[in-house]
Amino acid sequence: MVATYKDGWNKEDYISKGETYHTAFSDYRINYEIPENLTLVSTSDNELVTSPSKGQLEANNVKDFFIAILKDPNVIEKEINNINIRVFGIDNNKKLHKEVGDISSEALNYFEEKIGPYPHGQLDIIVDQSGMEYPGIITVGSIYNKGSTNPSLIKSIVVHEIAHQWFYGVVSNDPYNDAWLDEGITELATLLFHADYRNEEISLDVELFKDFPLPVNLPLDKYDIDSQSNYIYGKSTTYLWDILTKNDGRVGAEEFLKNYYNVYKYKDVDTQEFVRYIKYYLNMKDDNIFKEFLLLEE
Ligand SMILES: [Zn+2]
Repeated sequence: MVATYKDGWNKEDYISKGETYHTAFSDYRINYEIPENLTLVSTSDNELVTSPSKGQLEANNVKDFFIAILKDPNVIEKEINNINIRVFGIDNNKKLHKEVGDISSEALNYFEEKIGPYPHGQLDIIVDQSGMEYPGIITVGSIYNKGSTNPSLIKSIVVHEIAHQWFYGVVSNDPYNDAWLDEGITELATLLFHADYRNEEISLDVELFKDFPLPVNLPLDKYDIDSQSNYIYGKSTTYLWDILTKNDGRVGAEEFLKNYYNVYKYKDVDTQEFVRYIKYYLNMKDDNIFKEFLLLEE
């Protein structure tokens, strides 16, 4: 990955939970040499199962380049809208790997229809790792290495990490200082998918967060490790849901995501810019609702 520069290199000290770097869109050409009979899976659209032991990989205009080297994975391939989906399972849970493939193609199809085209020719999914998004490749399986989680939670993480391909992978923001932006919007997109897929109503209530008084847009080191997710993923998403579905329900929120994506693709957004845009989009005059969950510059 290539760091951004803003009053110095924009990179924080490592923390175990959350991202501490903000990277720029870059072009990559990578030469690799690995032992025989391994499978290299990466951000590139062009690697093969049982990879040649030497090769060159490329990806353009991506925020980082991820590589995993796997031994004897269980591989499931699917194709939807000319996109090649590949699920790599490390354990022997072939039923789960198939289910991950099925939900992935549903989610990819939904996000392409409601938001915009998927930015790569291939989507690789490695099952049996912490949930994390990278351009063209995601890992799912357990949350922060707390052991294996149940299949329905894993499938929900899959949808979340796929949604990041649009909100993180294409619309960029600083995931340390504005973590709520990509996580909140990604989680909103995930909820919209599930509501559509399961054909059920979702009700979220901002009242649930009355015991979480901090704004959601602080740098990650300002939250304690136990409540961080409640702000970054929970309170943020609930307020966005509340604001965006108030008038036109789910359709209103989907339309907003599509417009937001189209305006900011391959650009950088921060909290101030997001609020400026959503107020313009929804024709809102004052900041009151935003002040309930965001710290805004005067
Ligand atoms: Zn996320």
